Amino acid sequence: MVKEAEVVMKYISTRGRSPALNFEQVLLTGLAPDGGLYVPEVLPQFNQQEIADWAGLSYPELAFKIISPFINGEIADADLRHLIEKSYSGFSHKAIAPLRMLANNEWVLELYCGPTLAFKDFALQLLGNLLDHVLTRNNQKVVILGATSGDTGSAALEGCRHSSHVDIFILHPYQRVSEVQRRQMTTVPGENVYNLAVKGNFDDCQRMVKTAFSDQSFLPAGRQLVAVNSINWARIMAQIVYYFYASLNLGGPSRQVSFSVPTGNFGDIYAGYLARKMGLPIKQLIVATNRNDILHRLISTNEYSLGELTPTLSPSMDIMVSSNFERYLFDLFERDGKAVANFIAGLDAAPQQLSTSQMKKLQQEFSSYSVDDSRTCEVIKQIFNETEFLIDPHTAVGIEAARVCNVDHTVPMITLATAHPVKFTEAVEKAGLQSPELPMHMSDLFEREERCSILENDISAVTSFIRKHL
Ligand SMILES: *Cc1c(COP(=O)(O)O)cnc(C)c1O
Repeated sequence: MVKEAEVVMKYISTRGRSPALNFEQVLLTGLAPDGGLYVPEVLPQFNQQEIADWAGLSYPELAFKIISPFINGEIADADLRHLIEKSYSGFSHKAIAPLRMLANNEWVLELYCGPTLAFKDFALQLLGNLLDHVLTRNNQKVVILGATSGDTGSAALEGCRHSSHVDIFILHPYQRVSEVQRRQMTTVPGENVYNLAVKGNFDDCQRMVKTAFSDQSFLPAGRQLVAVNSINWARIMAQIVYYFYASLNLGGPSRQVSFSVPTGNFGDIYAGYLARKMGLPIKQLIVATNRNDILHRLISTNEYSLGELTPTLSPSMDIMVSSNFERYLFDLFERDGKAVANFIAGLDAAPQQLSTSQMKKLQQEFSSYSVDDSRTCEVIKQIFNETEFLIDPHTAVGIEAARVCNVDHTVPMITLATAHPVKFTEAVEKAGLQSPELPMHMSDLFEREERCSILENDISAVTSFIRKHL
């Protein structure tokens, strides 16, 4: 293969007013200074023959093929291979991302075999290893700061805690995460690990994180904040891999496949969109949402408007404004950063609309559906009755959306199973089924010692806590 050495991978902001960065810089930051998100200036492209030649590769081998063009030699190939290998070595299934058949041409991709039982491990295990590698090389220490409504926190702590070059602070809304989710965070050992329960909701936590990133003067000299939320480009990059992997295991690329993706912040499905743009033949990409359906309303009726955030049985998708949707809008607005910024800023004042041609493109690229809690429980029960396979509520939303939106039953339809049902027992019980047991490596979760600090809903409480503990 000819190495396209002349192409230097650069990352640019979706708002168009920040300098371009290289991979290492983009890894070690959060939002761009202009408030945008970083995206690659040019996407790597793979032709059908190249993709076909990857059939039979193991997950880490395939991950190397897909990820290395994004890193563009900033990490030596041998080191990168090792970091990828290490990131997926702790998964409990040899396939890393096993496919399970539900019915004829109906599949789920089980993305919850990592240490914290949700798909976020795919990105955060790798992010932790990439950070440690780069920081060790630079002899640099950073502060990781993130907000979580549940799954990101534990995955980030598991992924990053082994690095002596990071201190990690994770904010979660006090008493608003499930007990399993809380214990998965608060029982993580390590002198560099801090859980902060904020007396507010998830939006309060996320806002404080953003404020802290925009003014980092509270940090000691030489320290900087690094994001572990999906605003960090490296998380998106890692997630592109399993779209290729699933396709290759079902006859791709000579055969198309479709994906239904339970969607919150739009990170996961955006990775699928990129996989398609990089050359993977994908028929449908389905945005599956719960009652918090701003994206479904936009895709189906061209209305982009804020609503009341409703708590649901699939809480990891209880998000009003999906941050990564901005990365897609950047393409939809033909990379006009100013137009993206205006569209997003306008949302606070009034509902926004896309032009006719933009709507046409959006609907060509995505289908969408919104599933309420009672239907979610029915689907959990139905799948269990049909196959004896217990799914979590996020996956149930995905499966229902897949069934409703499917336009071609000759194409394999793959729903991404984003979490293990043990994390969301309320939905399982409401479906009239018995909660599953904790997997072996977590069986003593309820006996482990918890460590957590409860803080007022106040940014200065958070920044002074961080400063005191560095
Ligand atoms: C984070 C999460 C989602 C939503 O993923 P996005 O990338 O934010 O769209 C869906 N399901 C589960 C279980 C999650 O943890």
